[in-house]
Amino acid sequence: APSALDNVIALAKKRGFVFPAGEIYGGTRSAWDYGPLGTELKENIRRQWWRTFVQGREDMVGLDSSIILPKKVWEASGHVATFTDPLVECKSCHSRHREDHLIEEFEEKKGRAPEGGLAEVPCPKCGTRGEYTEPQQFSGLMKTYLGPVDSEAGLHYLRPETAQGIFVNFLNVVNAARRKPPFGIGQVGKAFRNEITPGNFIFRTREFEQMEIEFFTPPEEAGEWFDRWVEDCWNWFVDLGIDPANMRRFDVPEDKRAHYSDGTIDIEYRFGFQGSEWGELMGIANRTDFDLGSHTEASGTKMQYFDQASGERYTPYVIEPSFGLTRSMMAFLVDAYTEDEAPNTKGGVDRRTVLRLDPRLAPVKVAVLPLSKSEDLVPRAQQLASELRGMWNVEVDSSQAIGRRYRRQDEIGTPFCVTVDFETAEDQAVTVRERDTMAQERVALDQVAGYLAERLRG
Ligand code: ATP
Repeated sequence: APSALDNVIALAKKRGFVFPAGEIYGGTRSAWDYGPLGTELKENIRRQWWRTFVQGREDMVGLDSSIILPKKVWEASGHVATFTDPLVECKSCHSRHREDHLIEEFEEKKGRAPEGGLAEVPCPKCGTRGEYTEPQQFSGLMKTYLGPVDSEAGLHYLRPETAQGIFVNFLNVVNAARRKPPFGIGQVGKAFRNEITPGNFIFRTREFEQMEIEFFTPPEEAGEWFDRWVEDCWNWFVDLGIDPANMRRFDVPEDKRAHYSDGTIDIEYRFGFQGSEWGELMGIANRTDFDLGSHTEASGTKMQYFDQASGERYTPYVIEPSFGLTRSMMAFLVDAYTEDEAPNTKGGVDRRTVLRLDPRLAPVKVAVLPLSKSEDLVPRAQQLASELRGMWNVEVDSSQAIGRRYRRQDEIGTPFCVTVDFETAEDQAVTVRERDTMAQERVALDQVAGYLAERLRG
């Protein structure tokens, strides 16, 4: 039987949230395209994040830095030297795997570490047990060549995280925006990693989007800010509808942390993968003064803060909440997906699929449905839709029976359906139906916008 995750993936494709990239050429496991609804959903997540963490806080500002930075940035940040994964090959089927992923999956499944190391771990592809080559280090950086010849001089990297664009602009922002730690810089944008094992839908792709915050604090305040950020991140997901029972915190042990981290808490989500159900949703790391310190050393520019009041100069510590935008979108979809029952016109019940997305995230906020295709109702519906369009993303749907149209809107998470019927001409009112309760209410035409505005925040 298909798992809940399979259902979400099928729905995402059918309704135009996510399409396989280059599908007519066979697609690729590592890239996906965002369709009309997916684009809206992703944009809504981004907007909520920006409002909460950048515009909504007095201690934050935004930035949009380049994807291709000078090569020296990645040498100084440690990525050229250490952004590598240990890769092993199954001697039987020649599939390649990240050694750490094999071990993690084993631990998740069995609840214990493999005592004999990899020798105990079956190949996820062919099932052969423990026959792997020695691990080889494999760079996760995506390379590109600038200029007319593909030479070492032209070699550049696409950013594997948006963070470094923030660090190298630290002084620019401090001076231009007149900021003083504690303060943070937020950025949303694409990142690229040469992942060995992309997959699980949009969970792990080679091209993805991140929403990152680098929060600069006096060193002695770093611990306190770290704890506050873990809470703020957790609460952001819960406020936008994620069931906290599907989230957990994971305190990453020292040997599994990134090279820059002095402490990391991952927020994990129950994606429902086969084998290991849980996956990292986002991470909060204490990057200490590692990055600003490395850039100071490598560039000769003092990436420090000079406090005029105390006359003190210091290198701030950095707390980094790092969200995956596309990975968050997957979590919101999985969490919203529900199947329940709805009464049908024959007095029975139908199974229905509902995306119980928070209205702030729903790609379509309102569907205007003329009860029939009659010449009278359609223009009326279109008129109403065009009035509402100034405020929300609105769809008009006039094909097929009304019940089926409700089902379609439920499936894409539309919070409200507004039905224009034969009474409308007489009572100047429409029926508004709410997605989750299916409750219907008669609302005067001139009050529809106000009625919806009260119920659709943000
Ligand atoms: P993983 O262990 O899953 O590879 P990571 O620990 O390398 O992830 P970070 O470097 O902490 O990930 O990146 C921060 C966030 O960026 C992740 O929590 C995730 O939401 C997102 N992210 C990282 N890599 C990918 C990817 N390949 N595809 C989609 N999102 C990603």
